[in-house]
Amino acid sequence: MLIDTHGRIARDLRVSLTDRCNLRCTYCMPEEGLRWLAKPELLTDDEVVRLVSVAVTELGVTEVRFTGGEPLLRPGLVGIVERCAALAPRPRLSLTTNGIGLARTAEALRAAGLDRVNVSLDTLRPEVFRILTRRDRHHDVIAGLDAARATGLLPVKVNSVLMRGVNDDEAPDLLDWALRHDYELRFIEQMPLDAQHGWQRGDMVTAAEILERLGARFALTPDAVRGSAPAERWLVDGGPARVGVIASVTRPFCRACDRTRLTADGQVRDCLFAREESDLRTALRSGASDQDIAGLWRTAMWGKKAGAGLDDASFVQPERPMSAIGG
Ligand code: SAM
Ligand code: SF4
Repeated sequence: MLIDTHGRIARDLRVSLTDRCNLRCTYCMPEEGLRWLAKPELLTDDEVVRLVSVAVTELGVTEVRFTGGEPLLRPGLVGIVERCAALAPRPRLSLTTNGIGLARTAEALRAAGLDRVNVSLDTLRPEVFRILTRRDRHHDVIAGLDAARATGLLPVKVNSVLMRGVNDDEAPDLLDWALRHDYELRFIEQMPLDAQHGWQRGDMVTAAEILERLGARFALTPDAVRGSAPAERWLVDGGPARVGVIASVTRPFCRACDRTRLTADGQVRDCLFAREESDLRTALRSGASDQDIAGLWRTAMWGKKAGAGLDDASFVQPERPMSAIGG
């Protein structure tokens, strides 16, 4: 098992498949993009599957979420999903994506064994989408969402980040739209993980504000069970529909965190906000056995800090931005 000194057990693995992206969300990447990882630095498809296999068969991981960057840009994605679905015990497999290209690939992903998707969409207005992502692709995301639902990649969850003065007036409209389309909406507080290091706590739209805005149109009652899920959930108008808020900054969930993370270049991170990583790629390429790799992974997780420390005066944003960690 991947246990840490605070007794938490990591069963949920986030695997970043690329640091590249076809959008440039302002809270994530600068307009000109970033210096991408060179091909030899990236794990190959075989290496990704081998590490997922170690996590599942040796370390008790039961959930695998593929992310990035934009994971749909990874040419071998369908094959990776297929091979991970063939592992025993079979992990649950999901994907976090901006949805561009999903209309084309949803069926193949479903057939390969993908269970469900999280699609990120911050606005219902194409012109606001263009400002937020610096690309004119709103219709592609909507088409991707439609395809995900039609293909049965359920439940389809939608992640939205609200930016003050840009789309923060849209919270109730987004929820109304999500309810009508049977998507489970979750708002994410903006975190200090942008490549530009421009995050300001005072600018962030907080969970309290989001709930206040939603409360003006909907009756929200807390959903009792949270478990290790980062989203706190509320029943909407008595349920069964729900809305979630992932308040990593103002209501952190570190005490129940069950995540372990693998970057596209084969580094284990015990937290989004970690400043240290453990290199599995070098071990892998030097002929390490599954047991050796499992041992390195266990050691990497053992020292996980009690909390991300966003409120500590000593907090320093990690060098890797969200897109290179895998959100
Ligand atoms: N490209 C894919 C996508 O956008 O869904 C997957 C990677 S992206 C880094 C994963 C999630 O992180 C998205 O829902 C995105 O909105 C969110 N995200 C990115 N930067 C963020 C930030 N600074 N604060 C909060 N969420 C952020
Ligand atoms: Fe790309 Fe996702 Fe970052 Fe947006 S949030 S720039 S879609 S990686």
